[in-house]
Amino acid sequence: MTANGRTAKPGGMNDNLTAHRPTFVTHLECSLTGEHYEADTLHNLSRAGRPLLVRYDLAGIRTAVSRETLGARQTDLWRWRELLPVRHTGNIVSLGEIETPLIPIPASSGGTRVLVKDEGRLPTGSFKARGLVMALAMAKELGVTRIAMPTNGNAGAALAAYASRAGIETIVFCPEDTPEVNVREIAAQGARVWRVNGLIDDCGAIVAKGAAEGRWFDFSTLKEPYRIEGKKTMGLELAAQLGWRLPHAIFYPTGGGTGLIGMWKAFDELERLGWIGAERPRMYAVQAAGCAPIVRAFEAGEEHAERWEDAHTVAAGIRVPRAVGDFLILRAVRQSGGKALAVGDPAILAAVDDCARRDGLLLCPEGGATLAAYRQALRDGEVDEDEEVVLFNCATGLKYPLPTAEQRLDRHTVIDFDML
Ligand SMILES: *Cc1c(COP(=O)(O)O)cnc(C)c1O
Repeated sequence: MTANGRTAKPGGMNDNLTAHRPTFVTHLECSLTGEHYEADTLHNLSRAGRPLLVRYDLAGIRTAVSRETLGARQTDLWRWRELLPVRHTGNIVSLGEIETPLIPIPASSGGTRVLVKDEGRLPTGSFKARGLVMALAMAKELGVTRIAMPTNGNAGAALAAYASRAGIETIVFCPEDTPEVNVREIAAQGARVWRVNGLIDDCGAIVAKGAAEGRWFDFSTLKEPYRIEGKKTMGLELAAQLGWRLPHAIFYPTGGGTGLIGMWKAFDELERLGWIGAERPRMYAVQAAGCAPIVRAFEAGEEHAERWEDAHTVAAGIRVPRAVGDFLILRAVRQSGGKALAVGDPAILAAVDDCARRDGLLLCPEGGATLAAYRQALRDGEVDEDEEVVLFNCATGLKYPLPTAEQRLDRHTVIDFDML
């Protein structure tokens, strides 16, 4: 109790999670046909087999909250509460979803205004936390007790962490060559994890089969409607961080594309709220040359992308041979005046190395891919060096195998200090 008789707030309590605020979801909508679906009941894909998008009463939000009110709140993901689907704050299982910083990388980028949005600072070390914290809260709200998911690593880790905390059972399937640390962190955080002799869509097929048998709820990316709402906060955050405007270009490492689609949706909602103007960044969907289904479809002028056979790349997070939201990625990229770009593994590794050595920022390989693509775009005249550009580094570089460092010193011999 404080002197005036009120209970003191325990240290670290988050006002964004304790204050009561109304939510504004009106319905869900099929991203292909526009068909409406009821909110507040469990859904996977639409009847057309496509992702469902959450729709809000934006006019209601506009009256309820202003840019200034939002600006005064604690700067974490829950600051965007009115633009998010969770109805009851009590269903949110938070591990501290902070706003991630924008870090300039002047030395390694070759541009004068290149910022890395460093998503590696989030819980479980990747931006998958944004999507999974949201999807998990909604699963809890809608009474799900068992979840299965295919993953290339980071999504499984985030799911395991949040679900264990919420007391929800999880079964996770990953390709057998998923980075070792990912498989182990998934297990360490309480999920049952299985290495499968196939790629992520092969894992997805197992999840779909079990879901059809009623064994669990399918949490594959874009196959449930709420991960995208969590990932959307990257776009909201970016606008707020840049003073309610957007950069000239965004380079996004694209696997399932949830983040790119989510940001595009965020920009649309922000404009309808009157919080930003009509200008949009050029969206660059970056893929690895060894798995580039979106790039191939973009270049062929197609609306959907064929499965990429024999997919391989060091950037495990973007090794996604087939994306259920392919047409949404391609639409956003085209409407924005951007492109889909492929970069080879050597360029990815060189970019990671360069950024760490010269700018002191350790990117994950997927983040390295965005830097490699930016440098390529700069050389090709696709971007100007003085344009403001945001690259997404979606996980901490510490999760990935690092180059060896083998030099040893024998302290019992005479040390030649000149050679150190
Ligand atoms: C999942 C992941 C991606 C791809 O994200 P999508 O939004 O699914 O395209 C990129 N980088 C890393 C590190 C990831 O874990």
